[in-house]
Amino acid sequence: MSTHRTLPDRATVLASLRDYVEQLREEGLDGLPAINQPSRTLANPQSQIGEEAAASGVRKPARTANSPDEKKLAVKQDNSGEQPETVPDTQLNAATELFYRYPGLEKTGDLERLREFIGDCTRCKLAPGRTNLVFGVGNPNAELMFVGEAPGADEDLQGEPFVGRAGQLLTDIIERGIGMSRDDVYICNVIKCRPPENRNPEPDEVSSCEPFLFRQIDLVRPKAIVGLGTFAVQALLKVKTPISKLRGNWHEVRGIKMMPTFHPAYLLRNPADKRLVWADIQQVMKFLGQPIPPRGSRR
Ligand code: URA
Repeated sequence: MSTHRTLPDRATVLASLRDYVEQLREEGLDGLPAINQPSRTLANPQSQIGEEAAASGVRKPARTANSPDEKKLAVKQDNSGEQPETVPDTQLNAATELFYRYPGLEKTGDLERLREFIGDCTRCKLAPGRTNLVFGVGNPNAELMFVGEAPGADEDLQGEPFVGRAGQLLTDIIERGIGMSRDDVYICNVIKCRPPENRNPEPDEVSSCEPFLFRQIDLVRPKAIVGLGTFAVQALLKVKTPISKLRGNWHEVRGIKMMPTFHPAYLLRNPADKRLVWADIQQVMKFLGQPIPPRGSRR
């Protein structure tokens, strides 16, 4: 008797994979976040992928999920029918993470396409109250990116982040402190639409909008990010630690170094803490190889 088994065709494998993902979704998964593993080939024979799926280049979960946090899997299709490609972790994770919330988002190849993808967004309850969706501004190839919380009234009216009073202070930090032009850096927010009465964004609003921020980060791929204020930093790091404990130390977001610091609006109320922000910014400048002006001679 022959031990040879017939492999199912690609369509069958994909259909069963789709069913599996659907089942996970019904069990409460709302996305497919990253798994930190070394780069691998999609048909890695050492993975726990079934041989049928391996033959068609479809990955199944790398291991059995135990806790809810571990119920994460990386799925990638190889449509080429050629040799399995090696996908760097960051790309694979980024693509899989974004894939299931907004299919096609991972294919937006630049910021313009991303902006088109977002369109006249109605994905969350902030849409009816906005004047303009505030996407982001600056150099699409910036080495330095600033991430704030959400647009305020001025930003909502002008469609540009950080143009109000807090924005003027941020511009001073960039231009007089760091010695770069506002056009050299990239500036955006976690949330793209103004929350009513400038209230804090709510979890469902963050979860609707954050895939766009993560795609912005993946597309700009700056050398460093400065996270501005509690809300932005907690959203970037997915922690609840206060900014006072996080600031001044490097963290990592999507493989990029991120320095948390106080929000410029907080500095308007607490100007004495400007020196702490300046210390954080100096660390960023050092990392970027920017000359730091001697004490007392700030631009
Ligand atoms: N505060 C923010 O966090 N972002 C803006 O764009 C303006 C104020």
